[in-house]
Parts: sequence; structure tokens; C-alpha cells
Amino acid sequence: MSVLNEKTVEELSVLLESGACTSQEIVRDVLAEKNRIDPVIRAYVELDEEDALAQAVEADAARARGTAGPLTGIPVAIKDLLNVRGQSCTCGSKILQGYRSPYDATAVARLRSAGMVMAGRVNMDEFAMGSSTENSALQTTRNPWNTACVPGGSSGGSASAVAARMAVASIGSDTGGSVRQPASFCGCVGLKPTYGRISRYGLTAYASSLDQIGPITRTVKDAALLLGAMAGHDPMDSTSSPLDVPDYAASLTGEMKGLKLGVPKEYFVEGIEPEVDACVRKAIAQCESLGAEIVEVSLPNTRYATATYYILATAEASTNLARYDGVRYGLRVEGADPIALYMNTRAAGFGSEVKRRIILGTYVLSSGYYDAYYLRAQKVRTLIARDFSEAFARCDAIVCPVSPTAAYPLGSCADDPLKMYLGDIFTVTANLAGICGLSVPCGFTSGGLPVGLQILGAPFAEQKILDIGYAYEQSTAWHTEKPAIQG
Ligand code: GLN
Repeated sequence: MSVLNEKTVEELSVLLESGACTSQEIVRDVLAEKNRIDPVIRAYVELDEEDALAQAVEADAARARGTAGPLTGIPVAIKDLLNVRGQSCTCGSKILQGYRSPYDATAVARLRSAGMVMAGRVNMDEFAMGSSTENSALQTTRNPWNTACVPGGSSGGSASAVAARMAVASIGSDTGGSVRQPASFCGCVGLKPTYGRISRYGLTAYASSLDQIGPITRTVKDAALLLGAMAGHDPMDSTSSPLDVPDYAASLTGEMKGLKLGVPKEYFVEGIEPEVDACVRKAIAQCESLGAEIVEVSLPNTRYATATYYILATAEASTNLARYDGVRYGLRVEGADPIALYMNTRAAGFGSEVKRRIILGTYVLSSGYYDAYYLRAQKVRTLIARDFSEAFARCDAIVCPVSPTAAYPLGSCADDPLKMYLGDIFTVTANLAGICGLSVPCGFTSGGLPVGLQILGAPFAEQKILDIGYAYEQSTAWHTEKPAIQG
């Protein structure tokens, strides 16, 4: 019976430090649980056991030498769009077939230099486009709380692996909710840091003005630990911020008193599932009972957020994905001339959602439509960001739902992309505004599916939202619940 895989990063750090366990033992327990459960969940794209154990041996040696840090020897799973040196990086697509990463993404390199063990790459929607992980060209990942349901997306592999105790922690990416929403669907903690807080070097680009790397963990403290290890300026990413990185985990106060929490009236609208609404409202009441003052705020331009996001994200994706042409990377399907080679490769390599978005993005950028769609969306983006800065003048953080629904049955949105896009309404705003957001477990539906509370903070207010999440988490037991999944 595996046990160490059930522990949090924080707990394992203490055990390792005291000599009560070794990194090799932790990695073995993670592997055993993965081998027992993943045939059902299918979170992992690849986990090289020998390589993970070799890293664990090295971590144990570092500890024996006295050069270990608090994260040394703790395994982490990586969303398969971050370059991990020497491994493939599928991005959930067929088009990168045969590609091997020649380098580590900066976030990966930083986790490695903190001593963490890179223990496998996990599934995702193709190029992070989707909210259910069903758009992966590789495999279908299931929600550990109900295997007939989606794990959320696009970082569905990251969240399901952590929830099922097949990973201690994982890294995802969030362009419009892909860390927060799967965390919410799987009962995990998910943090989308401020744009620029973590370097995006080595993160495969989807929509570069929105993309941000973030941790998915079981507790707020663990998210703070991983954020601290990854954040900070990187000369390889000119959008990474030069601001100092505080010790987020050590600074957690667990104090809610005196904080003003804004509740946006536009976020409790028709269309939100009543059970989700009830859980979130109860969580807000709990924050109030812990000493927070609740104030109403208004984010009027949120009603345009989904449309704005899908114009800008697809526009950026259409240019970012132009590089997959059969010449530079991965799959190559020959043709009579270069144009035929490009077309054959892209026709065979991309799935239908990716093609849909490339076409949409190309359309909104084309002359004659640029002003009507792309330019207008940029202007609305400014209005959405302004809504938030006005709201943050009145409160310390905003509390609201992560998603209007809990996890839904596999296949239920498959033929209706618009329906899936509409589920992103509460998460895309943070990316458009460049602010930070945290998802923490706040209850379950009557069907036993987790619900998340979203805490949004001003740019670089990660410490504040982590504090609020931590105070809430310490006063509830939702994060200790565990899915009863059979292998
Ligand atoms: N669901 C959104 C989309 O499909 C967000 C994805 C993401 O954050 N990567 O674009």
C-alpha cells in the first residue's frame, strides 16, 4: 500500500529533512500508485521510471552531502507543453511526433535546481486549447472523482494526477483558466500567477499575451512553495518581471481579519449551476466569519470577456502555430512542392479544434476584418483590465466561482465548442487583465464532484491571494478529501 504519494510537498519536505524517508521511497510510491490507477485515469503521457529513480538517487545523495533544499527529492509532474530536456514534448498533438526537447524550460530548470524530481509528463488539450482535455490527440483523461466525467482542461492531466495521488504536485499552464478550472474540477489548488511572474521560456506558446505557468497542488502552502521556486526574472523571457520574489510559503499568515473581499455582482448570473453557486456563496460566508469584510464590486465588461478572449487567443494562436510546417519540428508529411508539404503536414498533424482556432484567428486578423474584430477586442481588453483596477481600489481581492459548472460527463460538449467556450467566462478575465488568480476546493455537488472558489488578486498580489486561500483552507477540510478510485 502506497503512502508517501498521499503526502503534500510540505509534509514530504519535513520527512526528507528529518531522514524519515528518502526521495527514492517517495518516487517508488508515486510510481506504484501511477501503475495501479493510471490505466483508468490516463493522466500520464510518459513517465520514465528509470530516469525518475535516477534523479531520486541524486537527490538523496545531495541530502547526504548537506546540499539539499526544502524541495530536494520531491517529484513533480509536468504538463506536456513545457520542454523537459531529452524528452518528447507532445503538446497533446500528433504534429510534434518525434520531437525531443533540446533544453529545459526555465520553470523546469528552476524546479530541477531546487532539487525536484521531474517525474513524468501529463496529458492536456492539444496546444492547451480546450476545457476538458478531450481535445488531446493522445488519450482520454478521466476525472478521479467520477471516471465518467472530464477532469477539466486544458491541464487535465496535471489536476487528475494530483487528485488521484499519482503525483504529489504538478505544473500546468493557464491561458484562459487551464490551471484554475481543472484544479476546481478535480478538487485541487491551482494558481495562475500574474503575467510575467514566471518565465515562459520553454513553454510552448498558445497565446503569448495570455499564457502563464502555474502549479496544481493539494494545498495552498504547496502552491506557494512551487511558485517561489519558479518565479522571477529570466533574461530568456523579456516579459518576465524583474520584481523580487518573496518567500511566499514562509510568509503565509492564515489571517483573514481586516481584509476586504469584493464579490462581483456580474459573476453570480443565470446559467451558473445552483449547487456551484451554493458552495461558492457558503465559502464567501466562511471568509466573512473569519473576519473578512465583504463588499460588492462591479466588473461590467465581463459580459464581453468570452468573445474578447476567443478573438485574441485564436489570433495569437494562428501566428504561434504557423511554425508547425513539417520543416522545423516533428511530423512531416511529404508533398509535391513546399506548399503541399505544409498543407499535408498540418492537415494530418492538427486536430479539429486546433484547425478551427487557426481559421478563426486568421480570419479576425485578415485585412477588412482586423478593425472590426481584433482591434475592437484589444480595446475591450483594456476596459476589462480597467474594471479590475477600479475594483481593486475598493477591495483586497475578489472572490467568485471558477467555473459555472462542476465537471461534466465525457462527450457532453464534444459537438458544441461554443458551449465549452461559454464555461470559461469566470477565468478568462484574469488572463485578459494580466492579474493573478487562485482556485481552492470549497465543497462538493450532491453527485460528489468538487467545486472551486476563485480568489483574484491585483497584479503581483500573489501573496495576498495565497494568504486568503490559506486562511480559508485552514478553516475547512475540503482539501483533505480524497477520491475513492479503484485501479
Ligand atoms: N479553455 C480555454 C481555451 O480553450 C482556456 C485554455 C487555457 O487556459 N489554456 O482556450
